[in-house]
Amino acid sequence: MYDTLGQGHRREDYPLQEFLKRIPQSRLPRHPLISIDPKLRLDHAHGQSLPDWIGLRWGTLNRFPDGVAQPTTVEDIRELLDWARRWDVIVIPYGGGTSVVGHLKVPMTDRPVLSVSLERYNRMIDIEPESRLATFEAGIRGPQIEHNLNARVLTDAINYYCAFASSTGNFKAIIY
Ligand SMILES: Cc1cc2nc3c(=O)[nH]c(=O)nc-3n(C[C@H](O)[C@H](O)[C@H](O)COP(=O)(O)OP(=O)(O)OC[C@H]3O[C@@H](n4cnc5c(N)ncnc54)[C@H](O)[C@@H]3O)c2cc1C
Repeated sequence: MYDTLGQGHRREDYPLQEFLKRIPQSRLPRHPLISIDPKLRLDHAHGQSLPDWIGLRWGTLNRFPDGVAQPTTVEDIRELLDWARRWDVIVIPYGGGTSVVGHLKVPMTDRPVLSVSLERYNRMIDIEPESRLATFEAGIRGPQIEHNLNARVLTDAINYYCAFASSTGNFKAIIY
């Protein structure tokens, strides 16, 4: 590797403040459930793929959602989806943000883009002691599920970062 590429050198990370200055004005109409905070928009503009990390660390990430909603109830989610339809807004659901294949990349489009983060939609809805069937809201993450069940059912079984940070809405993808 050294013979081919020569001496490697560490590149400085792109400064956060510079990133925040570059986040464009939001194209979304105002809504009480939606934040247009630049840091929140940057945080929801990427997953964990190598291109995502290069984009973040080199400052080349250049597409950001116009706003981020963090609903806590199913009524909030319905309200946001109805509102998005009314205003022709593209919605990107955001679970734990661990996608490694560019799922969360904001499309190049003239339409405004809303990230709907399910991070706060994260409670246990029900547990059936007989059948041992537990039902959770879609944004709950591995450790929170284990806390609710008082058992280590996920983070022992799947010893990956994704078991800690990805959401129930996506667990079906990782428990194969
Ligand atoms: C270190 C590491 C290891 C990994 N190992 C594995 C592995 O072994 N197997 C594997 O399959 N994956 C793996 N992944 C990838 C990733 O963790 C999984 O795909 C995970 O299921 C994504 O869940 P998330 O909640 O973070 O989804 P996000 O990254 O937030 O979203 C992924 C996609 O799902 C959509 N989405 C999110 N929530 C919902 C919802 N409730 N309803 C509808 N759409 C939704 C988003 O819009 C996006 O398109 C790994 C990732 C990392 C960083």
